[in-house]
Amino acid sequence: MFDDIRSKKIVLIAHCLINQNAISDGTAVYPAAFSDLINFLMQNNIGILQMPCPELCCLGLDRGNPLGAASPVLVENTRIRSAMQQKETKDKLQKLIDYVMLQILEYRKHGFKIIAIIGANRSPNCGVETTSENNQETQGMGLFMEELAKRLYQNKIKISFLGIKSSDGMEKIKKLLRFAD
Ligand code: SF4
Repeated sequence: MFDDIRSKKIVLIAHCLINQNAISDGTAVYPAAFSDLINFLMQNNIGILQMPCPELCCLGLDRGNPLGAASPVLVENTRIRSAMQQKETKDKLQKLIDYVMLQILEYRKHGFKIIAIIGANRSPNCGVETTSENNQETQGMGLFMEELAKRLYQNKIKISFLGIKSSDGMEKIKKLLRFAD
């Protein structure tokens, strides 16, 4: 089954890496997408599964703060982290994880290779190596990635996580190919 031309290789990526319109006010670094990353994935025949933006889905496009861009980024990110930890929001986050997990399980069931999960470092939700907490950029995962990692662990699934930032060069992106074999 699925023995057509498709590569059967996929990465999951944080929503805003392919759609900067979703990112919090004042923090977009490209008009549309991380073009180097997207071009690299296309050139290497790696399909892109765009995960939902947890902040947009749980807090809205303005994250519940129409003046968000007026605050320093790390201060606003810390506020967002705290808003995402309210009970009602946590439940919504789990539903988003369900939606992502359903797709991961389906692809794996049919023998597709999930090369990596690519997050956005510094994000309070999609950071992989760094996140935002206490008005600082700190080591560790954002809330969404942390929950996704837990769910993968519970399902005994190993997938590499990689976090990127606009300041990263191609070397970081090329690391992906090491996971592809
Ligand atoms: S990093 Fe995650 S939460 Fe933040 S804008 Fe991107 S997809 Fe949304």
